Amino acid sequence: MRIEKIDTFKHKGLRQKLVDIIKEKGIKNIDVLNAINEVPRHFFLDLAFDKIAYEDRAFPIGEGQTISQPYTVAYQTELLNVQPREKVLEIGTGSAYQATILAAMGARVFTIERHKNLYDKNQLDYPLKSKYKNIKFFYGDGFKGLPTFMPFDKIIITAAAPFTPDELIKQLKPKGVIVLPIGEQDEQTMIRITKNEDETLTEERFDKFTFVPMLKGQV
Ligand code: SAH
Repeated sequence: MRIEKIDTFKHKGLRQKLVDIIKEKGIKNIDVLNAINEVPRHFFLDLAFDKIAYEDRAFPIGEGQTISQPYTVAYQTELLNVQPREKVLEIGTGSAYQATILAAMGARVFTIERHKNLYDKNQLDYPLKSKYKNIKFFYGDGFKGLPTFMPFDKIIITAAAPFTPDELIKQLKPKGVIVLPIGEQDEQTMIRITKNEDETLTEERFDKFTFVPMLKGQV
């Protein structure tokens, strides 16, 4: 049975507090903060997490995967500097919370997931279908990107990447930006790579995070 989720005043209040916490941790971009305030995170979690959905923590979403911590979502989104109408490719749909934050900022979102069950859940039953029509879900291997829909203004990888996939750099527009956590299992460094107009790359390094691994192939 499908339980219709409701966004109550209580949820809205908890969400406002979460925005304050994220702000205190250093997120400044007002569009990012507004998106966190707008999107009901509890819609992307099982009912069992309803009371804790607005804690600044990652939670399990099945298949051994997690919904990222809100601060991490805000951090990556801030680095991406998303503008309305931009074409954004996300690798690692998971719960679709990050995809929804991008959609709430007006991006045209293309998101890929390698787990069929997680993909199906969103493709069939995305909880905010009538509100955000600017998200397209794909089942596939994010290392390959989406050649049919390239080029993208921005690309975001939401799993720990062992290296920067060349194929994804190819699918970026000139002046395009990719934000990804790079590194081993325990800890990764957030990286932002800008593709310059002459095709050279500029790399910037930011803080450390821990993500689930980016893995090859589909399951
Ligand atoms: N953005 C998600 C975070 C989910 S965790 C959210 O907001 O909930 C990372 C996700 O990346 C997992 O669902 C995992 O299955 C997926 N993933 C890992 N490697 C991948 C790959 N090569 N291609 C597509 N998805 C991948």
